[in-house]
Amino acid sequence: MVIGVVKCTEENLVALVPQVASKLIKDEYQIVVESGAGKASGYNDEIYESTGAVISSRDEVLSKADVILTGTGITKSDVDLIKADAILVGKFNGRVASELITNLKECKAQAFSLDLLPRSTIAQSMDVLSSLASLSGYKAVVTAADEFAGYFPMMTTSAGTIPPARVLILGAGVAGLQAIATAKRLGAIVEAFDVRTAVREEVQSLGAKFIEVEGAQEDSAAGGYAVEQSEEYISKQKELIHETALKADVVITTANIPGRKAPVLIENRTVEAMKQGSVIVDMASASGGNCELSKDAETVDIDGVKIIGDAKLYNLMGKQASLLYSNNIYNFLKYILKEGKDNLPYDSEIVSQSLLKVEEPVSA
Ligand code: NAD
Repeated sequence: MVIGVVKCTEENLVALVPQVASKLIKDEYQIVVESGAGKASGYNDEIYESTGAVISSRDEVLSKADVILTGTGITKSDVDLIKADAILVGKFNGRVASELITNLKECKAQAFSLDLLPRSTIAQSMDVLSSLASLSGYKAVVTAADEFAGYFPMMTTSAGTIPPARVLILGAGVAGLQAIATAKRLGAIVEAFDVRTAVREEVQSLGAKFIEVEGAQEDSAAGGYAVEQSEEYISKQKELIHETALKADVVITTANIPGRKAPVLIENRTVEAMKQGSVIVDMASASGGNCELSKDAETVDIDGVKIIGDAKLYNLMGKQASLLYSNNIYNFLKYILKEGKDNLPYDSEIVSQSLLKVEEPVSA
């Protein structure tokens, strides 16, 4: 079976790093890699060739492979080249309607979007959202520490004592918890907020203070994700965040609701009242932003408050992001191909939730 790897044209990611290509070659798969696919994440063509992989053009990879691996950045003309019985694996933001998702659903090949995998124990080793969110949560704090013109830890010097930075984290999912841990390691005082009260203990166990508003809506059917909140809750929440943000030096926002616009948690009046020199990193900027004034993939300065809108901070750690992403893909392939390409386990949640098909697949 031929496994092809095409370049992720929108990100510094490659879906199969050479170490993982070697494992698949040992498992007797043939690997064909688009020339330059690994360049942005630090792997040149020669490294792939040294594993036994073959370097080829994009069109050839797409038209010959039985299984095609990528991240994002598949075009309509790419889709048209893929064999009808092929399998395409990537992370296509499958919950959000787009031309790409329509194309992939209509394509004769079976397309899997790994961002749709269930957040279950069995799918944990394939969980690309967790891999990338964890890297991004770390990088958000490091980026904020670099932009913030002050120390993170308390500094006692002969010339006086500098208090520790105060960091507020909004959303304590995978990215938020990693951000809390990183900010604590750097010596900051950390407060965190989430609508899911289940994370209170995790936040506290990392040494942060959990701030909360009573009366959050939670739904056990939401797969562990947050759900939209009532108007009354939202207005109380904005008030609490406003008051807490005024004392903060750094605010990291990670709050998302799958398939929906991100909740606005930081209003214009909050930014306007924040301390000069403080920094906001909005990691939900691609889905509308948690901060009213953030702009996706841009840094803006509002009267001395810097707002960094970046939902893909893992791009700054392309090599490690690619390693984790490739391991997730490897585990996914081992799971779905265990009975061969013509006998995918359609009755498992892993396949049924990640498959982007209009029609129901016919179980073998
Ligand atoms: P996410 O990216 O969808 O959202 C980030 C965080 O924002 C979440 O904690 C969410 O509750 C929070 N949030 C949403 N709206 C908010 C609001 N208005 N105010 C404040 N916070 C808000 O979440 P995620 O990090 O992808 O995690 C989603 C779920 O998946 C969590 O329950 C997590 O524990 C679970 N998970 C499970 C596994 C596993 O068991 N294998 C692995 C990873 C994550």
